[in-house]
Formats: sequence, structure tokens, C-alpha cells
Amino acid sequence: MDKKITVAIDGFSSTGKSTLANQLANHLGFIYVDTGAMYRAVTYFAMQNGYINADSFDKQTLINSLPNIKLQFKFNADLGFAEMYLNDVNVEIEIRTIEVSSFVSKVAEVSEVRTKLVEQQKEMGKDKGIVMDGRDIGTVVFPDADLKIFMTASATTRAQRRYDELVAKVDTVTFEEVLANVEERDYIDTHREDSPLVMAEDAIEIDNSHLNREEQFKLVLELVNEITKTI
Ligand code: C5P
Repeated sequence: MDKKITVAIDGFSSTGKSTLANQLANHLGFIYVDTGAMYRAVTYFAMQNGYINADSFDKQTLINSLPNIKLQFKFNADLGFAEMYLNDVNVEIEIRTIEVSSFVSKVAEVSEVRTKLVEQQKEMGKDKGIVMDGRDIGTVVFPDADLKIFMTASATTRAQRRYDELVAKVDTVTFEEVLANVEERDYIDTHREDSPLVMAEDAIEIDNSHLNREEQFKLVLELVNEITKTI
């Protein structure tokens, strides 16, 4: 694709945003950024240093430590996507556990964390040619994005997808645990004060409960083609 545009994909947990965003970026030759991985890596850092656990969250110490957190994406050609590095260590597997999922929304509520990550995200997208997915991409990171997609699906459909993913990756979890986590994260993400998950006014909503990957991809590609005709 010669014309470089910015595509923002937001939505609830486990709606398949990352799958779609990665597929689209590969097809268009654009950069793909999974911003959830960045929040997950900060959470993993907080867990490793004992700043967050099931009983407590020492927000201030995490805030003070933010300058010591270096996040990078490095493309892995074999996998076809960029893996997350925290302070030069590949943490792609560690950040996907149910434990990280259970703390990440609490970490993502912290404004100082968001400010740091949003600044990096804006920098990554300054030359366009990017597909970024998250919760606040169309509203906060790229309010002028050329295309904004908001993805939804029923909570049970989403929990089933995440459960299948986790089970395939050795995590020992129950479906009920995953459903509870998806619902809890959605609640915190939509109710937080700073940059809550809301659909941007100019976003296009896609409910993919009954769409397969190919149908969804085709739909979004048509939207991209329409937009690139007008610019
Ligand atoms: O996308 P993923 O489910 O991996 O995101 C993990 C969590 O990170 C979300 O539940 C949300 O709390 C937080 N997040 C966010 N803003 C983003 C991306 C993720 O608050 N742009």
C-alpha cells in the first residue's frame, strides 16, 4: 500500500483486535503495535519487583520506577509479529499469563503509566503507515486517525476465545476464571477516570461474535480501500 494511513483499533478484551490488526498491518506493509503488550510489560515489571500482588498495589513506587522501564518491540520474522522486550529481555510469553491479566487493568488506571506509554505510541505513529490496537487509540493516542474501528463481541464468545488461547499456551485456567477476568477488565477499563474505553464518535463498530477471521478481515480491508481512495 503506497498511501500511508493510520488505523486505530479499539474494543473490549479478547475481541480479536490483535489478530485483525496484525493481519491488516502485514497485508498493507504497515507497522503493527499491540499497546496491550506495553501495559502488560509494565505490569510484569511491577509484579517482578513486588509492587503489585493479590493484596496490595504500591502505585507510588511504580510511578517512581517508571524511568527504569524500557519497552521495545522487536520483529520476529518466524512468528510474523513483533515481540515485547522489557529492559532488553523478551517477555512475550510471560506477559500473556492469567496472572498478568488479573493485574494489568489496575496498572493501566495509573495516569503516569498512561502518559509514558501514550507518548511512546504517538512517536511510533508519527510517520503513519501504522495499525495500532488498544483501548484509547482512536480517542487519545490518534484522535485524527484515518480509520477507527471499535470491536465488540459477547462476553462468553470473548472468554471462550481467550480460554482456548491460554489453554493452548499451557496456562492452567478454568473457563470461569477467564470469563471473570474478561468481565473485570472490561469493567475497570470502561470506568477508569483517565482515558476510559469508549467508542470514538467517528469509529465504525464491528460486532464479530458471528464473523470468522476472513469475513472480518475482508470487511475492514474494504473500509481501508474506501478511505485510501479519498486521500
Ligand atoms: O489488549 P490487552 O487485552 O492485551 O490489554 C491488556 C490491558 O491493558 C487492558 O485490559 C487494559 O486494561 C490495558 N490497556 C489500556 N490501554 C490500551 C491497551 C491496553 O488501558 N491502549
